[in-house]
Amino acid sequence: MSELTPMMKQYLSFKEQHPDKIIFFQVGDFYEIFFEDAVVAARAMDVVLTTRDSNKENPIPLAGVPIHAADTYLNKLLHQGFKVALCEQVEEATTGGGLVRREITQILTPGTVTDPEMLEESRNNYLAAISALPGGAGEYYGLAAVDVSTGDFRINEWSGEEAAPALADELLRLQPAECIYNSPAAAERFRPYLEPQGTPGTVFDFSADPEQVKEALTRQWGEELWEKLSLSRFPAAATAAAVALGYLKMLQHPAREKHFRNLELSSTGDRMPVDGITARNLELTQTIREGKRKGSLLGLLDHCHTAMGRRLLRRWVEQPLTEQQLIEERLEAVDELRQNPLTRGELRAGLQQLIDLERFCSRLCSGRVNARDLVGLKETLENLEPLTRLLESCRAPLLQSLRQLPDFDALIGRIAGVLVDDPPLQLREGGLIREGCDEEVDRLRSITRDGRSWLLDFEKKERERTGIKSLRVGYNRNFGYYIEVTRPNLALVPPEYHRRQTLVNAERFITGPLKEMEEQITGAREQLVRREYELFEALREEVAAAVPLLQAAAVRLARLDCLQSFAEAAERYRYCRPRFSPGGQIRIKRGRHPVVEQSSGERFVPNDLQMDDHASILIITGPNMAGKSTYIRSAALICLMAQIGSFVPADEAELPVLDRIFARVGASDDLSRGLSTFMVEMQETASILKEATPRSLLVLDEIGRGTSTYDGMSIARSVLEYISRRIKAKTLFSTHYHELTNLKDELPGVKNYTMAVREQGQEIIFLRRVVPGRSDKSYGINVARLAGLPLEVLLRAEAILAELETAAAQAPERQLSLLPLVSEQPREDGRTGKLLDELKDLDLNRITPLEALQHLYRLQQMLFQGDEAEEELPD
Ligand code: ADP
Ligand code: MG
Repeated sequence: MSELTPMMKQYLSFKEQHPDKIIFFQVGDFYEIFFEDAVVAARAMDVVLTTRDSNKENPIPLAGVPIHAADTYLNKLLHQGFKVALCEQVEEATTGGGLVRREITQILTPGTVTDPEMLEESRNNYLAAISALPGGAGEYYGLAAVDVSTGDFRINEWSGEEAAPALADELLRLQPAECIYNSPAAAERFRPYLEPQGTPGTVFDFSADPEQVKEALTRQWGEELWEKLSLSRFPAAATAAAVALGYLKMLQHPAREKHFRNLELSSTGDRMPVDGITARNLELTQTIREGKRKGSLLGLLDHCHTAMGRRLLRRWVEQPLTEQQLIEERLEAVDELRQNPLTRGELRAGLQQLIDLERFCSRLCSGRVNARDLVGLKETLENLEPLTRLLESCRAPLLQSLRQLPDFDALIGRIAGVLVDDPPLQLREGGLIREGCDEEVDRLRSITRDGRSWLLDFEKKERERTGIKSLRVGYNRNFGYYIEVTRPNLALVPPEYHRRQTLVNAERFITGPLKEMEEQITGAREQLVRREYELFEALREEVAAAVPLLQAAAVRLARLDCLQSFAEAAERYRYCRPRFSPGGQIRIKRGRHPVVEQSSGERFVPNDLQMDDHASILIITGPNMAGKSTYIRSAALICLMAQIGSFVPADEAELPVLDRIFARVGASDDLSRGLSTFMVEMQETASILKEATPRSLLVLDEIGRGTSTYDGMSIARSVLEYISRRIKAKTLFSTHYHELTNLKDELPGVKNYTMAVREQGQEIIFLRRVVPGRSDKSYGINVARLAGLPLEVLLRAEAILAELETAAAQAPERQLSLLPLVSEQPREDGRTGKLLDELKDLDLNRITPLEALQHLYRLQQMLFQGDEAEEELPD
């Protein structure tokens, strides 16, 4: 180590202070990264790893990126969850080669970026702060979700038994870019939920002294808000907010102070909490397979024309309303916009012109907007007036209230008065300020302008005086103004010319008067640039003072955008306006699955659905691929869409206001996760049985299939019994256990439906129609035929099936319908296992049909010959 240069020692001292960050160490025009960090970062940024002092014995690994292109590389690192500290030179490099002073000027983390280039515009970029506080009845958990790029700041708190899973669920929904924990214990508890998604987490040790928490929050938002939200009653939520503020302060984040909107305490009162599993199974915001927005409900409903709208729409989809009045308000607005395609079209065109006001505000507050951005803001504000005028004739109360935007005329006037129409990107090269705005600027400009005409005049006079026709006056950065004379004319140069520079074909000179003018011009220029920048800064401050108004406008515009988006979707896809009935029944006429109907190649067949007290549990059977999952999910989606204020894919829909919607899928559909899938399936089912109420809708898709038939069917059945007797939630249950259809006669409110199919010879045709009754065949082989299994395999399968069916008929007491199975459970014993093993070992490609029959016979014997036969199986 003693051999290290002073600069490397300097680097290491910074690294010591920031061990968890990659240090971008400025060396001239480059950021350099050393040692192990270089190795890691080079790979992550996809740049070449080189070395420093490569002729020494232990060369130091080095990765470097040019500063002017640093954004791209920073982007890559942040996206992969790294944190970066920019360590920059804060003084000019001295010619003596001494060590330059450097400082950490900015810390970038995935959850705190504000640069639009690093952000996805259609979704919030959340920093999540989690606090765990000890309490009487278990722990309290608090969550603060902060989007620094928009100023969103919301908090929430959970306690009791379900607190940790509820918070975990919220994290799954938010998909934060970064997480901080108030204690190592909190980190240990929640890291497992975030790490698989690659979300980086940090423990930010924070003393949870309630007084300090209160002080931090009141400093940010004032005492009033603390009282209004009764934050003393939510210590964990408040602590989480304080942790987030403390963390941002530690990062020296410039956006911290000014632009956070009012803290919002999420109360679950008027919102339906949609758990992460339901959201996933219904593909609300992303598809299961590819995790894409396209193909999800959100992707379908999103006809927004602003980024603000797009982000809000996601929150609407994730948090349906539970108050009928709020829902009707939205529906009323959507209805009106849908019926007025002209207004809607103009509204859409107007919205398209707007900049992302939310993110603009955050950049504004951190001093990161230039003159062009301010002009962009002005144009956006100018566009608001015509937009609100469009809404004048609208009657829907919500549209009327959204019309009330703050008055920005004064602000528009200020920006227009100060800045030119098309200012340059650079702020320190002048050309920003409008003529006539500032006397000083005008005066300095005229000096430079007069200087220019003086120069032209001077050039002309010198040509005449010396007789050198090609003489010209020029300027360059290093030497200033000069008179250039080409080589052949050098003899004519008068004695008062002083040589400045020699070129190949010419010499450059300076004279006393020219020098004087140069000083005047450059002096004026420098002053001008400085003055212009000052005026710009003042304007920027002035605009920043209007941030709360701008944010208020942004919120309304986002809502308006979401409403027009719903109207557009309703029109495009021919949706109907749902009605709500107090009776609690669901009556859907010709309902469709919103996504499948748009994406599937075949024509979508609509289906009705009727659920009420006499039909509260529907059991839907039918062959694979018949459309069971699609049917029951469309019911859930229609209910959910209605409660976010959207029209729904049906001809008519009369719905209850649900308190929860749950969607669960049997395990074998879901092999993507690590846990034992059956275990997951059961955990998921357990959570429903705890939380569902009579006002909930349950969509259970082949629950119980993650285990053996008997187990699975027993669980499915007892779950249904429990729902029927205790929970009384409306339930759609698809299953391939046909035996479950017998429940119809045993439990009140159970009805059987099946997916109609038509047999045509050996083919089956899916009619996609839901009809009363049960299917008694599973048509597995027919489906296998559709899938193109080799003929030989199909034929054997048919033979085997026929045998099995005869066997079943001969031993009716084995029929699964004779549940309860409690007494039969021990059958899940060695015998079944052996039987299954034998079945598995059968290589159907190598045996003849006759041999297959013999095998079948043997297996049958094993099953039916009772316990004593088990010992003496025929060979
Ligand atoms: P199941 O759950 O019974 O196996 P799915 O619901 O997965 O069947 O449906 C299988 C496929 O059938 C779907 O991917 C979809 O393309 C198509 N499908 C389902 N329902 C309909 C319908 N009502 N109209 C047209 N196509 C449908
Ligand atoms: Mg299915």
